[in-house]
Amino acid sequence: MGETLPTINIIKNFHNIATKIIPEDLDTWIVPQLLIHYSDKIRYLAVKAYGEAARGNTLANSAFKERAKEELKSAVFTFLFKSEHHKSGRDINSYLLTCLNRLADRILCDSDNIKKYNSPICPGCKHIGNRSFLNPEDKALKCDTCFKEIARLPTEILLLKDKLDKDIQDRQNIELFESRLRIHKAFALHSKKGYRCPDCFRFLPESLNGEYGISCPFNDCEYFGKVNKLESMPHPVSMCQRSMISLQSVPSKMVGSAESQHRELQDIFKAENINPDVKMEINETFGVELEQLISVISDQIKSVKRVNSSGTMTQKLLMYEAYQNILKISPEEMVSYLVHRKQSTDLPIQSRVYQEYIKLMEETLPVTLKINNKNHIICDLLDPNLQLFDGKSEFEAEVDYNYIIPNKTSETYVGGVNFKDYGPCFIGMIIDLIDKNTNKSIKSSIKNYTFSQINVNSDIKIGTAVIV
Ligand SMILES: [Zn+2]
Ligand SMILES: [Zn+2]
Repeated sequence: MGETLPTINIIKNFHNIATKIIPEDLDTWIVPQLLIHYSDKIRYLAVKAYGEAARGNTLANSAFKERAKEELKSAVFTFLFKSEHHKSGRDINSYLLTCLNRLADRILCDSDNIKKYNSPICPGCKHIGNRSFLNPEDKALKCDTCFKEIARLPTEILLLKDKLDKDIQDRQNIELFESRLRIHKAFALHSKKGYRCPDCFRFLPESLNGEYGISCPFNDCEYFGKVNKLESMPHPVSMCQRSMISLQSVPSKMVGSAESQHRELQDIFKAENINPDVKMEINETFGVELEQLISVISDQIKSVKRVNSSGTMTQKLLMYEAYQNILKISPEEMVSYLVHRKQSTDLPIQSRVYQEYIKLMEETLPVTLKINNKNHIICDLLDPNLQLFDGKSEFEAEVDYNYIIPNKTSETYVGGVNFKDYGPCFIGMIIDLIDKNTNKSIKSSIKNYTFSQINVNSDIKIGTAVIV
């Protein structure tokens, strides 16, 4: 319908107007009216999600409102156009309320995770160089790694002992394995309560205490004594990471419309009114995550080199190299995107990784690709065998008041598991940008571009008609 309707109770009338709504209506009036309709609920949920900080006209409150807006938009979109729930008579009110409640729960759960990630780790495995998290069992802590090692090591030791010509290395290994076995036996199931070893300062679980005293299980320490003389010590803990890192899902054909769903306001929350402890924790977490990310990428590069045939290896290596390069330039955003799957800037990181990848590919050309057992020599980025672009696309558009040229690519990207239509195809690489009046290239005025839009410098006049 397009034009604004007079203010009505949108929920009451939703069933009547549902079939007339077009996607553009969501931004122009549907979502704004829903925000008014649910304003009390949103205020209440903001406090639920962010605590007292969200009471009143605060940053946290507007942050929640912003997320509620996105949530409502995607919920209505799904309701009307993807699932077409209105046709089955499903109630929009309870649907939207569920979505809003879930949003609040999600945010609450995320922030709880930041506070809760100290988790006990196995002191025995830590000494050997592994980080094993522990599970509570019958008032004790259980280490799965220790249990596995207790099952494995005796066989290893026996095999070495059976060898007739034991060389020095074998004898050293037997000793090493026996000392490890002792440590794992001490910590496979141990108490949370414990003491500080007066000799090596490590954690001695009270569960090791026997009739005559406690003996330090670590191979480089010989302490033995009564526990009543010992100082108690808290159980060692470590930050518990949510392991969400996966580079397997590197989208080789990234979708423009997906960007908008990943926009988050996390930067704002981290920057304001944060107590120093939490800030330190966040910094520490970030350091660990960045380190993990760097090592994950270099591991992936190694495994690509080991496993892949020359066919797709070049492409994969260049993609990882692009990740590494962008990681060096914008470590925060990459951690945010790859570890937490969040976007935090106006310039989505996928586009930049993709553009970096294209740049590297261009520098590497010509490359030889093996496709269906035939070698293809590729000299051009637009070569269909490279599967980078679906082809050239040209469209006309106008520079809008934000100095943005929207993506008006005529091809649409249909794909994924459900053969979903994702809307306009993304902008992979801009070949040229031409001012329609002067017929001259203004490519040098492009500030940057994403899959869905081109941002130009402010020296270009608003309203300039262009050919892309
Ligand atoms: Zn262990
Ligand atoms: Zn000791």
